[in-house]
Amino acid sequence: MSESPQPDSDQPIQSSRGLLSIVGIGPGCDGLIAPQALGAIAEADLVVGYSTYIKLVKHLLKDKCIVRTGMTEEIARARAAIDEARKGRKVTVISSGDAGVYGMCSLVFGVLQEDGWTRDASPELRIVPGISAINACASLVGAPLGHDFCAISLSDLLTPWQSIRKKIDRAADADFVIGLYNPASGRRQRQIVEAQEIIAKYRSGTTPVAIVKSAYRKQQSTVICNLDNFLDYEIGMNTTVLVGSTQTIVYDGFMVTPRGYANKYTWEGEVLEGQQPARSLNPDMLPVREDS
Ligand code: SAH
Repeated sequence: MSESPQPDSDQPIQSSRGLLSIVGIGPGCDGLIAPQALGAIAEADLVVGYSTYIKLVKHLLKDKCIVRTGMTEEIARARAAIDEARKGRKVTVISSGDAGVYGMCSLVFGVLQEDGWTRDASPELRIVPGISAINACASLVGAPLGHDFCAISLSDLLTPWQSIRKKIDRAADADFVIGLYNPASGRRQRQIVEAQEIIAKYRSGTTPVAIVKSAYRKQQSTVICNLDNFLDYEIGMNTTVLVGSTQTIVYDGFMVTPRGYANKYTWEGEVLEGQQPARSLNPDMLPVREDS
């Protein structure tokens, strides 16, 4: 693996427009990286990312030129990636989870916009989706996102806390399942406490809550607890907190938010009294006689 904080700009030009791929690497294990993302990493001349994420995919980066930077250097990282791609190189920017969810993707757009970039200009842009923490964490605890849900980041570095508070309040009132990203860090401790107080105005203390740490990584841990007691558990940087809606239940250790079938059908598939059956237009679902 070759590394250089200042990428070598004498690399051969490979395409006149250059290619900038922005790729989510999923929660942290190889099996959950999309094949297209693996492809974009494999074909890259240069891989750019926050050092923690570079470490997660280190084994895929043998002989790659890498620009890795710290957490607060995102703008420099986006700038470097765009400039290198403009030279005709294939540059792949990696973010954890999905790059479009609190990741590098919107920041790259910000820098491109500043440059007056348009779709047909250099570099060519390709965005590859990834499995975001909310999906990864949900899969480890059951089906908590079975009905309407939202994601809220508790990081108030770039967003005023008042605005985050308001979103928590409205989401809690509207009965969304809430996925809390960036719930706490060494310095960010008060926000999750306030979030709990706001949600508790609308939901009972027994509302199921899942705390998922380092999903699909070595240090993975999951706890299913409730709105009253979830603050008793360790919540840190690599944790996502999933707060159930008023409909969410715990079933044999799984957290499940029903889609609503039981309001309309019996579990034998019969329509309940007073309910209209749904009509299927899918020919596969229509009864077909064996001899037809
Ligand atoms: N782009 C990422 C989110 C980056 S914000 C994504 O789509 O997942 C960083 C936050 O994501 C963390 O504070 C944590 O809340 C959550 N997160 C990222 N990876 C995680 C993992 N493996 N397990 C649990 N939470 C994770």
